[in-house]
Amino acid sequence: MSPHAHLEIGKIKVVSLDAEGTLVTPDFSYAIWFEAIPERYARKHNIEFELAKKLIKEEYAKVGDHRLEWYDVRYWFDKFGLGTPDSVMESHQHKVRYYPEVKEVLSFLSCRYQLVVASGSTRDFLKFLLRDINSYFSRVFSSLSDFNQVKTPTFYSEMCQALRVRPQEVIHVGDNRQFDFIAPSEIGIQTLYLDRKGGPRADRSIADLTELNALLAG
Ligand SMILES: [Mg+2]
Repeated sequence: MSPHAHLEIGKIKVVSLDAEGTLVTPDFSYAIWFEAIPERYARKHNIEFELAKKLIKEEYAKVGDHRLEWYDVRYWFDKFGLGTPDSVMESHQHKVRYYPEVKEVLSFLSCRYQLVVASGSTRDFLKFLLRDINSYFSRVFSSLSDFNQVKTPTFYSEMCQALRVRPQEVIHVGDNRQFDFIAPSEIGIQTLYLDRKGGPRADRSIADLTELNALLAG
């Protein structure tokens, strides 16, 4: 039996994709959190970059990724007294990198399906992360900026309502097992787990988006 026998391809109307780790590499976000912020903090307090990075990482850890502030770049710029993040993020736009197959896959899929982004990143980041591929998507959903939550089953329900489709008519693909696979599955969205690391393949997983393309092409 095919490892994707659970999918009902014929029902799919909407292809929903995660952003970071799925369409776009973590390089841009890494540069903001672990280079730009510590750099500015080091300059402000006249300390070494490595020390600033260590201190900043400790502050991130104190908040932790279960709290929404952890994801909010404006919260951190404010907390560290660094002004607003806009010009810093603008100056790192060149760090945005798409995975090699992304543009071709989007171009193919957009002829046949409605494409949307369902991301846990804030709009502050999505504005830069999606800049070159925005035109492929009819809608972009940010769970944090639009719904004030990580990607929960409730977020996915709201998304389906906004799109006026039933969950079974959506396939969602992303690289986080909880947020992109378990949560949408719970409300009946069809899912594939994207595991770019290779190695032994888990059930219902794909290694890159060309596999999604092949499945949807039939
Ligand atoms: Mg991701």
